[in-house]
Amino acid sequence: MHARTLLLAVAATLSTAPFAVMAKTESTARFCETQYSKECQGAVSPSQILERFKQGNERFASGHGTHRNYSQQVKETAKGQFPLASIVSCIDSRAPAELILDQGIGDVFNARVAGNVINEDILGSLEFASKVAGAKLIVVMGHTSCGAVKGACDNVQLGNLTGLLAKIQPAVAAVPSKTGADRSSKNHEFVEQVAEANVRQNVQLIRDRSPILKEMEDKGEIKIVGAMYDVASGKVSWYE
Ligand SMILES: [Zn+2]
Repeated sequence: MHARTLLLAVAATLSTAPFAVMAKTESTARFCETQYSKECQGAVSPSQILERFKQGNERFASGHGTHRNYSQQVKETAKGQFPLASIVSCIDSRAPAELILDQGIGDVFNARVAGNVINEDILGSLEFASKVAGAKLIVVMGHTSCGAVKGACDNVQLGNLTGLLAKIQPAVAAVPSKTGADRSSKNHEFVEQVAEANVRQNVQLIRDRSPILKEMEDKGEIKIVGAMYDVASGKVSWYE
C-alpha cells in the first residue's frame, strides 16, 4: 500500500474507532479513571453517572470490585475535586457508599447520617455539591435492617436521637396498616416498607425544600434518585 494511502486508512480507522466504542458502551466510555479535572466531570450526564453506579454495585455484589491505587488517586485529586455525585446514606457500618458502588477517591460527596434523613445542613451540603462543585446526581440511599428506621417504628426516645427519629415518623405514618399487623421493629416487612417510604419521601423533600436543586433538576442539570441497599445480598435497588 502506498504510504499516503496507508496513512489515510489509519486516520480513517482512528477517527471512527472511538464512535464504535461509544456506541457499544456509551454509558461508561467517557469516564476518567480518576475525577481529576472539570473536563472529566463535564463529559458525562446524570444518567450516565447513575448507570456507572449501577454497574459499580453489580461489580461489588458479585465480588469483582475494582482494585484502585488509592495513593495514586490521592495525588491526582490533591489540587481540586470534581465529583460526579452526592450520596445521602446512613451511618450504618455495613453501608459504606463508595465501597457499595465501587467508587474511588474524588468520585462522590458522601453525607452520612442515621436513617439518611434530610435536614438544613444536609440540604446546604447538597446545594454546595451540585451548584458550586458541579456534582450531577443526588442519591438518597437507605438500607435494609436500618436501626434508625426500627427506632422510629418503636418510637424510641433517647437524648438527641429523639429529634432525629422524628424525621422518620412521616414515613412510618405513610405505610398503611394491614389488619392486625404489628407496626413495631419486630415486623421485618413493615420495617423495610418504612425504609422505602423514608427514602422516597426524602427524595421529594430535597425537591420541596431546595428551590436551587429543584430548578437544576427541572433543567436536566442534575438527577435526584432514591436507592435501597440490601445488607444481606450487597445489592442496591434503584427507585427512579
Ligand atoms: Zn441505618
